[in-house]
Amino acid sequence: MSITETAIASAEAHSAHNYHPLPVVVASAEGAWMTDVEGRRYLDLLAGYSALNFGHGNRRLIDAAKAQLDRVTLTSRAFHHDRFAEFCTRLAELCSMEMVLPMNTGAEAVETAVKTARKWGYRVKGVPDGMAKIIVASDNFHGRTTTVISFSTDPEARADYGPYTPGFEIVPYGDLTALREAMTENTVAVLLEPIQGEAGVLVPPAGYLPGVRELTRERNVLFIADEIQSGLGRTGRTFALEHEGVEPDMYLLGKALGGGVVPVSAVVSSADVLGVFRPGEHGSTFGGNPLACAVALEVIAMLRTGEYQERAAELGDHLHRELGLLTGGGAVEAVRGRGLWAGVDIAPALGTGREISERLMVERVLVKDTHGSTIRIAPPLVIGKDDLDWGLDRLRAVLSA
Ligand SMILES: *Cc1c(COP(=O)(O)O)cnc(C)c1O
Repeated sequence: MSITETAIASAEAHSAHNYHPLPVVVASAEGAWMTDVEGRRYLDLLAGYSALNFGHGNRRLIDAAKAQLDRVTLTSRAFHHDRFAEFCTRLAELCSMEMVLPMNTGAEAVETAVKTARKWGYRVKGVPDGMAKIIVASDNFHGRTTTVISFSTDPEARADYGPYTPGFEIVPYGDLTALREAMTENTVAVLLEPIQGEAGVLVPPAGYLPGVRELTRERNVLFIADEIQSGLGRTGRTFALEHEGVEPDMYLLGKALGGGVVPVSAVVSSADVLGVFRPGEHGSTFGGNPLACAVALEVIAMLRTGEYQERAAELGDHLHRELGLLTGGGAVEAVRGRGLWAGVDIAPALGTGREISERLMVERVLVKDTHGSTIRIAPPLVIGKDDLDWGLDRLRAVLSA
């Protein structure tokens, strides 16, 4: 057996099979490139589902992490530490908000948002105890905890995990009328992805998100934007909602916030909303730790100049122009997305998304399929234009083979 085969067989024997990775074993990575245990190089067009927006081994982020490793890495929230206030202040500023509640993973940020919205509903809005409802969209992806999968519409994500957490109402994504009809006086929040990543990079109809903003404001309901995947530069703006001129009541951030180094997530909102918490009512041992804050502070500093957003916008235009040329030829049925982020529906006759991903892997390009025959393309924002073009050439080769 090759080193690759041995590593995969061993992983299969000793790890739960809750993932089905492509058969590549990465040993090192830099920028948009990964090298496997046998020395083969691959172009990374997934970027850890946007956790690696700034690329592998980004010098600034690695240096920030190394400097912090030598000072202090963890205090728990039992004590203050000297990176915490700066992190919260800078992140709130980036979001034009007032307060931050740091967590670690995206799912924890979503859980925190659910708890915040419910508490806000009871304490501020005056919803009768136990009656709070949160409206979510069909085909959402917000994480993997028992509460979060309780409002998933994906049978794979839900099956065998009941009993499910009540208090959620699911309406079709992009349907403003359905949202209006689902609202009652007990609705405390609407939780949405401004672009649905896992669903296949679905961009809602123009006017939908401003409509959600208007409706939620009218009805005294919190608009919670899950920008864990869409945020922090991916779409060519800091937040995907900016494309529609919309400001939510709460941002959920994760993935790229940790710079591909550590898990960092956060709920960012107003003092009215996050002010509902008193000591002891919510927490996390690792949330807001010094290492996380140091890396995230560097991420925030990088985003403040706008250069990564601009790069994502420019390269994104190029990506969508090139992908657009593939539609109409029969191999590609549709392309969606915004910025350096695309969902590409391959003609089912050419194979499943998984099969296309495997063929691309042979061509040294790594992508991930979503549902059916859709693949998604989301390179690190630091990818070189020549490298992106090379990857697109490999895609054309696979589609025309
Ligand atoms: C990845 C993701 C999550 C969950 O984040 P984890 O860090 O995997 O828990 C939540 N929402 C969206 C939109 C995501 O893409």
